[in-house]
Amino acid sequence: MENVELGRLARRAAKILVEARGRALVFTGAGVSTESGIPDFRGPSGLWRRIPPEVFSIEYFLSNPGEVWRLYAELHRVLAEARPNPAHRAIARLEEMGLVEAVITQNIDGLHQAAGGRRVLELHGSGREAVCLACGARLGIEEAIRLGQEMGWPPRCPRCGGLLKPDAVFFGEPLPRGVLEEALRLARRARAVLVVGSSLQVYPAALVPEEAARHGARLITVNLEPTPLDWRAELVVRERAGRFLPLVVEEAEKLLA
Ligand code: NAD
Repeated sequence: MENVELGRLARRAAKILVEARGRALVFTGAGVSTESGIPDFRGPSGLWRRIPPEVFSIEYFLSNPGEVWRLYAELHRVLAEARPNPAHRAIARLEEMGLVEAVITQNIDGLHQAAGGRRVLELHGSGREAVCLACGARLGIEEAIRLGQEMGWPPRCPRCGGLLKPDAVFFGEPLPRGVLEEALRLARRARAVLVVGSSLQVYPAALVPEEAARHGARLITVNLEPTPLDWRAELVVRERAGRFLPLVVEEAEKLLA
């Protein structure tokens, strides 16, 4: 997109966020982290092209835990090396400026927090831990992967021998208790929602921006491809998040100066 056009969109986005008077939310998906080197699921170079979605369903995991763990360990290497990109940093800055009340993410990569985000709601859990499905014990994901590499896949709980599972939410599993409720509560009172890098196909997460829109929030979508909520959005920006969001910060800083 031309710089002039992008600057104009950034000014409009910044104005919407400022006018929300501290009640704006940012809702993110895998697309906010592709510029950090983590593939998304449904984008042009998405993971689904290599690994079918069913692999990360709880049913498939329970029947094939060794195979899923080996794939997860591969994915973890990518997550562990990833660093926040300009989009994560811009979102953290909008929060620091008092414009964004909370960041609600579907990602498990921890990059919003690494960029300095303070209130980050992780709808799909985190990639930092593994949990024992038998006794509930938790251990660091690196430790679980080491157990798998040394003793064979899938890794077993050091306490009771039960099956360990990465603590991220798999398809078919409930979301962590309270997090979705809190996200929906914030959505209902939000005056604006900035949706970044999500195809909005995964439920119930996608209910968050939908619910906000139903309650009158102004929507901005920043995504490389069309999303099902674009028709409700006041602003649709088809651009890389890492290029667009720093411009929004610049414009918001000018408006608040
Ligand atoms: P998705 O893959 O369904 O959609 C990502 C969207 O982002 C696509 O529409 C793509 O066009 C867009 N996109 C890609 N790069 C972009 C960029 N630089 N700027 C703007 N837009 C960009 O992702 P989703 O909606 O988050 O759903 C997938 C599920 O997979 C989520 O539940 C998430 O938990 C999980 N997931 C997480 C990670 C992670 O933690 N980083 C990575 C892959 C998948």
